[in-house]
Amino acid sequence: MQENLADSIRKTALQHGFERCHFSQPEMNAKHCSALDDWLEQGMQGDMAWMAEESRILRRQKPESMLQGVRTVISVAMRYSQPAYSLDEAAALQDHGVISSYAQGDDYHEVMKKRLKALARDLDALLGPHEQRVYVDTAPVLEHALAENAGLGWQGKHSLTLNRQLGSWFFLGELFTTAEIETDEKASFHCGSCTACIDVCPTRAIVAPFVVDARLCISYLTIEYKGFIAHHLRPLMGNRIYGCDDCQMVCPWNHETGTPDRDFLAPRGENCLPELASLLSLDDTAFRARFVKSPVKRLGRDCFVRNCCIAAGNSGNRALRALLWPLAQDASAVVRGHAIWALGRLSDSSDAADLLHVFSTMLATELDESVREELNTTIRTIKEKA
Ligand code: SF4
Ligand code: SF4
Repeated sequence: MQENLADSIRKTALQHGFERCHFSQPEMNAKHCSALDDWLEQGMQGDMAWMAEESRILRRQKPESMLQGVRTVISVAMRYSQPAYSLDEAAALQDHGVISSYAQGDDYHEVMKKRLKALARDLDALLGPHEQRVYVDTAPVLEHALAENAGLGWQGKHSLTLNRQLGSWFFLGELFTTAEIETDEKASFHCGSCTACIDVCPTRAIVAPFVVDARLCISYLTIEYKGFIAHHLRPLMGNRIYGCDDCQMVCPWNHETGTPDRDFLAPRGENCLPELASLLSLDDTAFRARFVKSPVKRLGRDCFVRNCCIAAGNSGNRALRALLWPLAQDASAVVRGHAIWALGRLSDSSDAADLLHVFSTMLATELDESVREELNTTIRTIKEKA
């Protein structure tokens, strides 16, 4: 039997390293659009103001505004390794930081884009004259909704896309084309009555099924948010220093999904539960070298060290104070503020008097309003503890 066009493209996508390739019409469901509108209306995007820009909303709702004459959206999935440890194992290693599994290897934006572009070149031969565009998590594209329409997977209650065989450990990419290709059936929903992801979330960020309030989500706080993290959320962050995998790790669809048998996107050993002591002393040059070609590098040294200060404060390991003291004098206000908080959290009756003296002295010269607030709050907390 002759292979149809969709099957030929699917086969080509697999050759380029994608585990799934599905097709849908360029239409957004009213359900997905109104869910996003509600989410934005409630301000759940936090500081990601760009998400609420009118032009972006329109482009997300109308795929044809991304490519005039688009007739088919090709959604592809590329797997990454699931964590090599359990939630309990990661939590027990308190003076090690947890980097989200997807970020332990090379930057997926680069890897996916290169492979999607190679797929696009092959499509030119398969499809004949047509226009196409590729997207990987950067353009205003509702990728989870498109993946659902294309039958690649359904949206889980943690808001990520789930596939029956792959679980949720994969990246999504899209290729818009003006060519007409036979589409797949929409994915059906398989969460049932499960609420494991909602129940495990350390900050209760999944405020309702399918609704993640980014302002509470550790992934957003550690990666997207650049400021001073709210005091009540810091203890709940534990040792997570870049992203959070908890809601994926408890998902029954993620058990026994295995590890991709290939080199690209493989986790780097040094990014699997690294010691906080090795990260707290990174200056900008050392940080860039340590995370070369890694998605972590996009965060920048200051916010990364900020996250490590929170983890150090939560570690209970008083030996880390030696590394926190220089950070309390750091050129970056966000680093200074979080180092001061961590020192206060690690203090006990043996050093309370010293800390009160040093922090009061620092108050006399500190000019940054947010750091002054950290100093005042920490002084108050130490006094209450004493
Ligand atoms: S990533 Fe972490 S903080 Fe965010 S919703 Fe999932 S479990 Fe909660
Ligand atoms: S943990 Fe349960 S509710 Fe959450 S996404 Fe997985 S199956 Fe769905």
